[in-house]
Amino acid sequence: MDNVDQIRTRLEGRKSQLTELLSRVERHARRRFDKSLEEQAIQRENEEVFTHIDDSLNLELAQIEEAILRLDRGIYGKCENCGEAIAPKRLEALPHTHLCINCAS
Ligand SMILES: [Zn+2]
Repeated sequence: MDNVDQIRTRLEGRKSQLTELLSRVERHARRRFDKSLEEQAIQRENEEVFTHIDDSLNLELAQIEEAILRLDRGIYGKCENCGEAIAPKRLEALPHTHLCINCAS
């Protein structure tokens, strides 16, 4: 893998994007004022949506941090399950993946 720096830059970029998004989602979710019942109902619905977004963002963030760790250890791009190299095209599409296409499917 000769474009490690490029991959790292991409992962770090996505990581700060996700961190920013997460703090925005959290700020929004905490905003609770005196509201009418109707507004509270809308807010509850929004919170459910946000909780869902929150979960998937947190998951992706964890995967990206893991991928950066694997870069540090020099094992990035290897399948964690079978040890084979992950296809560059797959890494291109999913930079944080840790499984080759065979093991992931
Ligand atoms: Zn594999």
